[in-house]
Parts: sequence; C-alpha cells; structure tokens
Amino acid sequence: MAPSIDYPAPLPLSLSALSNSIPQKQATINVSVVEIIEDDASQDQSQRDSLSPHPQEPIDPLNTERQRLRNHLGLPAERGAPVPEQPRIQPLFFIERVPDSRAVSCSLPGCTHGSLQPGELRLALNPGMGGDMWFRSSSDYYHIPCFELLADFTSPAYLDRIQPLTRNTFKLRGLKPSSVFDGSYLLTGGVERLILEWKVTRGKAIDKRDGVFDERMYKLEESIHELLYRAGSRAYRPVRRPGLLDQFEFYTLFKTLAPNEFEYTGGRKEEWNLFGSFLGEEDGVHDLSGMLERWEKAVTLAWQDTGASSSASVSSDDEDQPALTPTAVKAIRRLSAIPTPQVGFNRLSSYP
Ligand SMILES: [Zn+2]
Repeated sequence: MAPSIDYPAPLPLSLSALSNSIPQKQATINVSVVEIIEDDASQDQSQRDSLSPHPQEPIDPLNTERQRLRNHLGLPAERGAPVPEQPRIQPLFFIERVPDSRAVSCSLPGCTHGSLQPGELRLALNPGMGGDMWFRSSSDYYHIPCFELLADFTSPAYLDRIQPLTRNTFKLRGLKPSSVFDGSYLLTGGVERLILEWKVTRGKAIDKRDGVFDERMYKLEESIHELLYRAGSRAYRPVRRPGLLDQFEFYTLFKTLAPNEFEYTGGRKEEWNLFGSFLGEEDGVHDLSGMLERWEKAVTLAWQDTGASSSASVSSDDEDQPALTPTAVKAIRRLSAIPTPQVGFNRLSSYP
C-alpha cells in the first residue's frame, strides 16, 4: 500500500456493508451528535420532569487531543481547517515494550489505566507532540487502547505510521544498539509478526473499502512469501535464501519467527498457525489492542506450568481464553523469544 497522508475519504455507499464491520470513530461521534439533537428537541419535556442531566454537552473531551495529534501529523485539525505546517520528520507510532526500571505515565488526558509498567506493551509517538520536530529524541507514551481513542486506524494516514520496535527498526526510533542489545524495548517474535500481519490485513480492508484494492500492490516475491507464511509447516522446504535477507535474518524468520508449528502428537498430525489463532479469519479489522491482549494472555498461559506434561492441553480459568494444545504451547513459547540485533552472534532472550 502506498503511504498516504490524506484526510480519510468518506465510504462509498456500495461498500457500506464492509464499513459496518470496521470501527468508525467518525461515525461514533456523529451518533452522539444525533442523540444530542434529540435531547434538544425534547427539551421541554426534559425540563418538566427535570430528569435530563446536561443536554447541551456535545463536546468530546478527547476531541481537542485528536485535533492536536492531526496537526502534529501535518493533517488539518478537521475537514475544511487549514493545512498546518508539515513535520520536519514524519512522526511514527512505535509499538514497544516498556524497558526495566522506567515506569512512565500515559499521555492520554484522563487515562485511568495507571502508569505503564516495565515489560508492558506501549505505543511511543515519536517525536512526541511537545518535542523538537527536528529530532527523534522525544516520545509521548500511551497504553495502546488509550492511543486507539485518538488515532483512526481505519485510515492509512494513521495505519502506515505503525512500526513494531524490533532489531530492524530501533535506529528509526533514535535508539542506540547499546540500549537494545539485551532485548530492552524490543518486541517478542510473536508480537512482531502479528502487528505486521495486522497492518497488511487492515491495509487491504481499507483499500477494498475505498475501491482501490490492487492485489499486485501486496504481492511478494515467491521465496519471501513462502518464508513469511509457510515457515514451520510440514510441507515447507526453503528452496533458497531470498537475496534481500542476510543469513541471520533468514534464520530468524525461518526458525524463531516461523508462524506455523507442526507436530505428530498421539499418532495424529497437528498444524498450528499464528495468524489464524490471533488475527481471525480474514478480517484484520478488529482493534490492535484486542489482538495483542489475546496474545499476551496466551503467552502467560503457555508459560504458566512449565512442568506440565507435554502431551496435555493447558486451559485457563478465564472463559474467554481458549485452551492451548501442546503444539500451540510449543509455538507460543518459541514465539516469546526476542530476536536482538546481531552483535557477532545470535542472542536470544526468552519470556518472561
Ligand atoms: Zn492510558
């Protein structure tokens, strides 16, 4: 998908069915306006029985913050507003882990989730809204669900800025190798693969909604496609290392970050797939935070009882958490590793 920083276009009417399945913040706001108009219309009745709380309070307290973010990205605060000065360097949204001993506050006004704790996933808006726009030295930090209240990930203007913080992207965020060599900030393999795949499936859904979907834009060279989607499955045999990848990255994608796991257990074969397990069928239209929360819960469960029999499924008291088969447990543990930048040899650190 070509990066685009345009104001999100209105949905074509013929695609309204799809739009219903995509959370639309604009639509949410419109609904509240309609409700307020109804309140106004029945004001006489409300005044008589004195039950109406505050009928004329249409202002979304987060709207100012959304407009501030839009301006920070170089977008008009709202439709028809003047185009602000363009950023010197493009702000990006890094998904990363809070490093040890660095609990920080969430930047969302009115956040009630407490401070961001070491090991938790967070979103770093870099550069931050109050920082120097010439450098990447400043960041604003958010709980991911909090940032989803400000950003509209059904628009490429926001979606394209998401970056998982990994061995390949830390320099883009202005971090030094010495800050990440031990795995600090960096995501586990599972989170990296899920975010990248979520971004692709969401991008496709947006393109289809906007009537500009072109399969060729998403086509990968065959050896890369096979490596990204079939590694770990029984039938996968890499023919050759794709030319773009060095030996380290090839091994990482082939082994550590393979999205499939295959096992014969009790005489029957079992295949497990990361994307099918956490991303859903074909959508990619659910929230990023929801997907990552499901992943984090599964990781906790997979590591919960390391002494348990390797042939038994593990389940949780949480009804929303599906039980994990032995193949799933093995795969999730493998994908809990954090691939770090190559410094002479391949360092891997494991969760937790
Ligand atoms: Zn928050």
